[in-house]
Order: sequence, then structure tokens, then C-alpha cells
Amino acid sequence: MPPAPELKATLNLPQTAFPMKANLPQNEPLRLARWASLRLYDELRKAGSGRPSYILHDGPPYANGPIHLGHALNKGLKDFVVKSKTMAGYDAPYVPGFDCHGLPIEIKVDEQLGRRKLEMPAADVLDACRDYAQTYVDLQTTQFERIGIFGRWATPYKTMSRDYEARTLEAFYGFLEKGFVYRGLKPVYWCIHDRTALADAEIEYENHTSPSVYVRYKLTSPAEALDPALASPGLAGRDVYTIIWTTTPWTLPASLAVAFHPDFEYVALATDETFGAPYNPTASSSDWVGNHESQSTPGAVYIVAAELASQVIAACKLQGAREIARFKGAKLERATFQHPFLERSILGVLGTYVTADTGTGAVHTAPSHGAEDFYTGQKYGLDLTCRVDSTGRIHVDESAWPLATPPPYDGLTVWKANPIIIAMLTERGALLGSGDLVHSYPHCWRCHNPVIFRATEQWFISLETPVKREDGSETTYRQLTIEEIDKVTWDPAWGKERITNMIATRPDWCISRQRIWGVPIAVFLCEGCNEPIIDADLNRRVVDLFEREGAEAWHATDAAAFLASGTRCAKCGNTTFRKETDILDVWFDSGTSWFAVCESDPDLRAAYNAFETGDGPSVLYLEGGDQHRGWFHSSLLTSVALRGHAPYSHVATAGWTLDEQGRAMSKSLGNGVDPVDIANRMGGEIVRLWVASVDFREDMAASENLMARCAEIYRKLRNTFRFLLGNLNGFNPAADAVAESDLLPLDRYMLARTRELTEKILAWYTAFEFHRVYHAVNEFAIVDLSSFYLDVLKDRMYTFAPTNPARRSAQTVLWKITEALVRVLAPILSFTADEVWEYLPPVEGREASVHLALFPKPQDVFAEDPAPVLEEWRRLFEVRDEALRILEEERQAKRIGKGLEAELEIAAAGDQLAMLQKHAAGLKEILNVSRVTVVPGEALRVSALPASGAKCARCWNFMPDVSSYGTWQNVCARCQNALREMHIDPPQAEDPAVAGKEGAA
Ligand SMILES: [Zn+2]
Ligand SMILES: [Zn+2]
Ligand SMILES: [Zn+2]
Repeated sequence: MPPAPELKATLNLPQTAFPMKANLPQNEPLRLARWASLRLYDELRKAGSGRPSYILHDGPPYANGPIHLGHALNKGLKDFVVKSKTMAGYDAPYVPGFDCHGLPIEIKVDEQLGRRKLEMPAADVLDACRDYAQTYVDLQTTQFERIGIFGRWATPYKTMSRDYEARTLEAFYGFLEKGFVYRGLKPVYWCIHDRTALADAEIEYENHTSPSVYVRYKLTSPAEALDPALASPGLAGRDVYTIIWTTTPWTLPASLAVAFHPDFEYVALATDETFGAPYNPTASSSDWVGNHESQSTPGAVYIVAAELASQVIAACKLQGAREIARFKGAKLERATFQHPFLERSILGVLGTYVTADTGTGAVHTAPSHGAEDFYTGQKYGLDLTCRVDSTGRIHVDESAWPLATPPPYDGLTVWKANPIIIAMLTERGALLGSGDLVHSYPHCWRCHNPVIFRATEQWFISLETPVKREDGSETTYRQLTIEEIDKVTWDPAWGKERITNMIATRPDWCISRQRIWGVPIAVFLCEGCNEPIIDADLNRRVVDLFEREGAEAWHATDAAAFLASGTRCAKCGNTTFRKETDILDVWFDSGTSWFAVCESDPDLRAAYNAFETGDGPSVLYLEGGDQHRGWFHSSLLTSVALRGHAPYSHVATAGWTLDEQGRAMSKSLGNGVDPVDIANRMGGEIVRLWVASVDFREDMAASENLMARCAEIYRKLRNTFRFLLGNLNGFNPAADAVAESDLLPLDRYMLARTRELTEKILAWYTAFEFHRVYHAVNEFAIVDLSSFYLDVLKDRMYTFAPTNPARRSAQTVLWKITEALVRVLAPILSFTADEVWEYLPPVEGREASVHLALFPKPQDVFAEDPAPVLEEWRRLFEVRDEALRILEEERQAKRIGKGLEAELEIAAAGDQLAMLQKHAAGLKEILNVSRVTVVPGEALRVSALPASGAKCARCWNFMPDVSSYGTWQNVCARCQNALREMHIDPPQAEDPAVAGKEGAA
């Protein structure tokens, strides 16, 4: 029986204008506009002035596309850190950054400009790159702001700004002047058509027809060192050779070694007196030319890999080949051979990259024309000089060419040289077989011509540079860096070992790129001897120029304009110089952000300088786990070199965002989750809630489904806030709040519980355990509030007079809970917390936004020590659990009705009895029955009975004193008192409809 409509109107039901439906996609942009009009970020800076500092230094995302979920996660986590530090009482500025230089943007711009680029002045190309990057800086800014990330978005740092470019160059000069930098060779893909180095990303594989040749190299070291059988009298007078196979005959002038696999078996094959019978091709990819019919040599011995021997015998038509010795490839190390047409000794070397699927197992090695060849050459101390110029023309190695007239390939491009070299091999009897091979070969992505490998001069930072520790003792740059890693907090801890291993084993840092979109290595090189000028004053002038005019100025100004007249090379005395045109590796750019931003930016420099002198704030870097190789790594290296210490005190890393099956997100799988799309359909708040829901240190699952689950959680949290706000209707904290000591026991317990939660949440924010905040708040909203406190309070909140002290006691606690929750959730639910903020009961001095407020202090939530209160209630809840079990049992048996239709008798003994007697008045409420009687007994025993008395038509409690109140029937004495306190009289008997309206007023 519901109360009569007129009686129902006398209940104090929750009332609030806070909307149930969030309409986040429509309302979030309005809130963003409000924050902009409040100049909220500036207000936060003003509020932070004088507070202790906290620096989260932003790792710049690359500005070449819209944001994806990984970006949203990264910026979301940073936003949680910055907002939680701010609300914890720190001054935590957030200066977002963008990484703007580099190949991906230059490639995109190249595609747009096409071949026009080659005729354009450098400054115009740079302008086009700048515009392209700026487009994505703007787009990403809008997208990050859309999901509620606070920061100095109006003036972020950009690695392409003039100021940043000048600082990057200054940092490079720091390395140069301190002696960390050297120039050396490195093999790169090279397009001789476009005359440029190509990155791996710029290579496309296409089919290409190459000449395929087998060439013999004569052994010049003692054959018996390989195997005694090779010295047997029967072989006297026979030459021993190895056979190499190559599809790039043009690299033979650069041949310096032959590589063998140390673990392969090699065989020595003796052949008959002559060879040269016409060869009948069997392989379809080969088109063999019989080019040695006329030749005749004495029988020889050939060393090839055992596994490839039969193939080689066929391809080279080795007549009567028979195995006379077998040994491991390791034996061939340091053997020597004669180059087929140069006066050069060829070294036997070992390489595990030698394969047994094609060729001969003996790999001709030209260190200047292949990556593996190059590193093998380095290992064996071979000459790495490249004699193929940028246009692909070969220049003779004069020290090895025996004749006065240059060889016929001298000055030809590599492709034209191929047949000439094959002819030379034939003439000298070194060619054992040749043909054409169609194979997959690297081509230039731009001009589609085949590319070559070419060792080019590059700039390096040496990890072995001698440096001094703070105490003056000597060490190496590598070692000092490893020592500095130890002083940093790595979270998770495995990051430390990971980056330590990387630093311990990495090669020297190649910092040059043959591109244009970046910071030029602004160095003058002597035209005579290629030495760079190292002059601090000159460097300072170039930095000033960059500051004024940007990196463009380097391309536009002649070398002579920078140099004082009469400048001479310190090494050779030459007086003409050229400008280096290479640019710096983009990791050098972003890796100097601590210098370009933290040490220079007005919002950061004071705090960062204090950090650097050792008595400053924490400096946090927070990025994906791949940055141990990237930004954490390059930042560490630059800071240790230039400042002697790491640029951070704390490094946190996030895992990967995967789909629910643990797969990477990709277009082809269609399993991507676009944060902008989620924001537009469900709300930026849902993206934020998802970020909070995952443990970022692990790999994280995301999907439409999981986003929908977050939206469901969001609705529950929002409804909790709505219910809290609704019950605060008519509550004026200044006038109505009840002192902590006067609160009802249940209300005191809830405050103690809220304080406990607050303490935990503050600790979790400090430890960046955002997912724990998320789960604890959900549990609090669902278990503590919805299922318990807000439910059992209904009787008190709805039926008591608004001014009743017991109701005010509850409201005081609901208010304190709301004030605490809205603050601790503000870093995560930034939009909704700020919306709730506007519906809170007015208090003096309330900040314009929740984001300007501080976290609640636990002792302000509840001043007493919460532990004894929580312990007492833990025991009370044990009784409650037992009572609820009995009630459920009796209801199932249909011996009692629902809720208030029952009453309980609880028997207990000892301490438990005392505790229950102390709480006797409140038991009815927390058990949601009409009456609870506590009696002494031997142990805990709960009995449930149908409630005695009569049901009150207003509050539905079964009461002993239910009577008619004016025209209203069946109203209990408690309700009658409440109505009198509310000055509500029952309606007149004659016209109940009119009276009802008055009664409700
Ligand atoms: Zn090309
Ligand atoms: Zn010189
Ligand atoms: Zn009543």
C-alpha cells in the first residue's frame, strides 16, 4: 500500500538539478569552453606559485598524424599525474611537446612535392615540412584537449621552433667541444640516381636482373695449414683456390676479404687437368655463357662449403672433382688469397651470416659495400674507404692497381662497370661461371632505380670518450652513463636492467642523417683535409643565427660569410671550407629536451635547476616501454655527457594497448579503438575512465566492448553523485552541519570509512596506481554507498523533518563524502567532477573549478583515528551478516515479509552483547527492519519475526503507536512529530484534493 498521494508529498525525497543523463559528447565541449574562459591553466599556475614544484617532463609525440589510443593512454596517465600532484599541493606545470623533424614527415612532403623538390631552395622545402608538422601539432592539440588533458597547449614546445633548433645545435656543439664527436664510415643504402642515402623505410624490393659470377681466388698462405692432405705429393704443382659467387661484380675492386662460416664443413676438391667443356644450363634462372671453352689451366684444388659442393661443381663445370680434404671453416681464418686483378692480398675471415643455401659458402667481402661486410671489415681492421662516389662512379684504388694506365672500369658507374669487370675476370682466367639472375633487389622508393650499399662518412658520438666523475676520478662515457642509471627510480623495476644492457652493448651513436628536415650539423669542414673547425666563438655565432633566423639560415648562408678572413685549417693550413649539410638524428633533437625546455622554459627552469643541483623536485619521464631504446635513452646520453647526470629522477613505463585477444591493433584486423571516435560517441570521460581502469605497467586490452563497460561504470558513478546531491537538497553546511562528535554512530562510521578510502587513494596517486583508485572508488560507490549507506538512510532522509538533527547528521556525512569523492576523482573524471562541483551546497571561498581545489586532507574528512571505529563496525557487520542470512531464510520460508514487515531479536553474550547494546538504537536502521531487540544470551542468535504493531501509511514502519492524524489514517507518532515540525497539517475532510496541495507546499 503506497502512502496516500498527499502523504507521499510530505516525504523529503532527493531533489537535484544535476542531470541523470550526462550527454558527454555534447556537454564536454561546453565545459572545455568554460575552462578556456576561466583561463584555467593560467589560474592553476597562479595557484601553484609558492608551492613545492613537481616536474613531469613531456616526451614529445611525433606530429605526423591524428592521435591513436596509445597517445590517449600516454597523455591520460600524464594528466592523472599532473592533476593529482597539483591537487596534492604541488606546483606541477605541464608543458606539452611535439617531435617535428625527421624522415616520416620529409617523406610525406616529398610525396607532395614530387620532383619539384629537387629544384626548390632548401628554405622552401623546410617551410613545407614545417607546415606539414604544424598541421598535426594543431590537430593533436585539439584532440588531446578534447579528452580533457590540461597543459600549456597555447605554447607547447616544438622541436622545430627556432629556439629549440638553436638549443639542439648548442647541445651538439657541447658534444663537439668536449671531444665526444668523431667522423667515421658507415654503410648505408644509396640511390646513385637521386644521390642520397636512403633509410630502410625508403627501400622497396623489386625484381632485378643481375649478372651472376663465380670467381676463383688463389690461396697464397700455406695450404697444409688448412689440412695436411693438401700438401700431399700427388697434388704438387696444383694451385689451391676458393670460389666466391657474387651478383655485384662491380664490388670486386673493393673486395678485401673472403668470409667463411666457422662451423660449416668445407671441402677441398681436386679437379682434372683442364676444364672448359660447354656447360648445359639446368637452372631456369640462369643463362650461362660458355666463356671458357678456349681456356685451359693445370688441374687445381677448389675449397667450397661441403653442402654447396655439388652445386658449385655443376655451375663451374669442374671436371672430375673429387674430395681430398674436409675441415671446418674456422681453419680458413687469416688464410690469404690473391685478388683476381688487383695487387692486393685478400684475408680469410669468419662470419656466422654466411649461409649454405646459395653461392659457395665463401663470401666475397667488400667492407664499403655491405652492412655485414662493413662490420666484418671493422672487426678485422680492413680498409673501409669507399671508392664509389655519390653518383655511383668507381674510382681505382691506385695503391693496388699495377699499371700506369687506369683500369677500364675507372670512372664508370657501377652498372656500366659490371660487364667490363666480367671481361677482366675472363681474361685473367678467374671466371669459372657466369650468367644472369632475376632476384628481389632493393630499389629506391622515389625513383625506383636499384640502389647500392655504400660506406659513407658519418658523425658519431663515441661511447668510449674519457670523462670524469663528480669526484674527479676517470671513467668512460659509457660507464658513467651506466652509473647514473643506478641513481634513477625505474618503474617497473625491470626498466633499469633493460636500459643498462642497452647502454652497455650499444655501438657508438651515429648522429648524422643525409636529409634536410632537421637541425643541420652546422660545422665547417676544411676543403683540404676534411677536418672540422672547432671554435667555440664561431659556434656561438651560428647558434645566435639559428635563434634569429632558424635552421634555414644555415642553408642560405655561404661558409665564407661566417668565417673571419684568413681562417686557416688547424691541421693542414688550408683556407677554404665547406658547410656540412647532414642533419642531426631526430633522437638527438628530442633527447636534448631537458636542455632546450627544462633548463630554458620560464615555467620549468627554476625547479629544474634546483633538481640539477640536487635539492630540487622529482623529475618524471613517463612513456611507453619502447623508449628505453628511444627517448629515455637519448635523453640520458645527452644529459650525462653535458651535465654529468641523468635528466630525470623517476622513469615510469607503460605497456602496449592490445585488443581483447591480446593482438596488436591494426587497420587490417579492424580491431583498433580510436580515442577521438570514442570521445565523440561516448565521451572523452569514457576514454579517461578506460585509462584509469587498466594497470598501465602491463599490456592493456581495449575494445569497443571494454569502452562500453567503462560507460556502464560511468553511469553508476554518475548516479551515485546524483543521489548524493539529491539528498543534500536544503542543506546549508555553514548553518546545518553537525559537529563530528554529535554524529550518529552509523554516520561516524561512514566518515571513518571515507577517511580510510581517502588515505588509500592519496597513496595510490603518489604511487601512480590509478587502476586501484578506479577499482576502490567503484567498490565504494556500489558496495558502501548504493547497497548499504544510501539504502539504509532512506527512512531517515525521507521521513524525518528536514531540520531533524538525525537527518542533519546524515546530510553532514553525505556532504563530506561528496566533497571528498569529487576531489579525489577530479584527476580522472575531470569533466564530471567539475560538473558535480557546480551542484554542491554553496560554501564560502569555493574555488571556481574543482581543479583549483586541493585533495581532501584525511583528518578533515574525519578528525578521529578511524581504526577503532572501523574495527567496532567490522564486528557489527559480522552480526549484520548473520541477521541478513536469517532474514533471507525466513523470507524464503514465507514466515516473514519484506524489509520493514519484519522485526528481529538478537541474543548475544559478553563483549558482543555490550557492543550491540551500545548500538541498539541504530540496529533497526542498518538492518532495514521495523524493530530490533537486543537480549542477553549464551551466544549470538538471531530470530526474525513478523513485525508487531501496525504499518504507518507514511513511513511504512510497523509501529506500536499508529493512529489517525487529522484526516490521515494510520500515521505513526514519529511521522506525526515530523509533520508537525514541518508545519504540515492534515488536509480538511471536506476537500482533500485542495488540502493535499496545501499539505505539499
Ligand atoms: Zn632514387
Ligand atoms: Zn685541413
Ligand atoms: Zn511513520
